[in-house]
Amino acid sequence: ATKNAGRNGWMFYQREMGEKIAQRQEMENELRKAIHEEQLRLVYQPRYDIKTSRVTSLEALVRWEHPRQGQIMPDRFIPVAEEAGFISELSDWVMLTACRDVHDLFPGLSVSVNISAVEFKDGALYGRVQRALKLSGLESTRMEIEVTENAMLLNPEKTIQIMNEIRVLGVKFLIDDFGTGYASLGQLRRFPFDGIKLDRSFIMPIETCPDARDIVASLINLGKACSLDITAEGVESKGQMDLLSQMKCDVLQGYYIGRPMPPEQLKKVMPELPGVQDVL
Ligand code: C2E
Ligand code: MG
Ligand code: MG
Ligand code: MG
Repeated sequence: ATKNAGRNGWMFYQREMGEKIAQRQEMENELRKAIHEEQLRLVYQPRYDIKTSRVTSLEALVRWEHPRQGQIMPDRFIPVAEEAGFISELSDWVMLTACRDVHDLFPGLSVSVNISAVEFKDGALYGRVQRALKLSGLESTRMEIEVTENAMLLNPEKTIQIMNEIRVLGVKFLIDDFGTGYASLGQLRRFPFDGIKLDRSFIMPIETCPDARDIVASLINLGKACSLDITAEGVESKGQMDLLSQMKCDVLQGYYIGRPMPPEQLKKVMPELPGVQDVL
């Protein structure tokens, strides 16, 4: 009986694995088409500058409007594009669309796009960024690129070189989800970053936990000592916003300021966003 159960268990496992692989393959095929069939959308989340009390930049976040499954979030499909080797193609669409939207709809604001670590692997990034800027007409100083710290560990020398080339254009680099990766600030100092975004997990407990508050205050001071612009991610309450202002954080981003929204909707609600209203 045990032998049979084991055998059935194995067959069940094999069938499950087979289904998973088939599903993954199907998603990969559909995602390749989605890029050209206009199923991808960008939503924009405001980033609020404390010093000027204004929304000064927007982060572009991608969504997939799947014809049968509805909206799919990036955490589910970005890894598929990365592993299947067409993340750069997807990213080209994101960069160009983001630059165009901000150029056409949000005069004076900057836009940040997220790129994957693998996009530093070949030498193509510089030309790709330049192309998005040229085709959209957006001033290069209004474009920012967000990269997670793990991207910095793959091939440091080459990554630094690529970043420096792109920075000559006037484009800025931000470290995304700072504190969640495996890089130390010592390692990161070698890279030409303009700012860091403190991960949401640091911001979440600052109202209730004094230790968490001290850690965030130290990270802000440390960042400032390195002349970096500090963004707090995942700001969800007025209390967090006030604490971060006291701590001299530079930029706030999170549901309390504004959720990610389609560009037309953001344009409409912009004057009513909380941080902005405070000064009106
Ligand atoms: P991220 O770049 O760290 O983006 C922040 C994520 O946190 C977004 O999730 C955003 O909707 C969410 N968020 C913002 N404020 C709050 C808040 O106050 N509370 C909470 N709980 N969440 C908040 P989203 O849009 O699902 O994106 C997830 C990740 O997918 C992004 O993390 C980014 O790493 C990646 N991603 C998104 N768009 C792209 C893209 O175009 N290209 C690449 N390569 N990655 C992308
Ligand atoms: Mg980001
Ligand atoms: Mg982040
Ligand atoms: Mg992230």
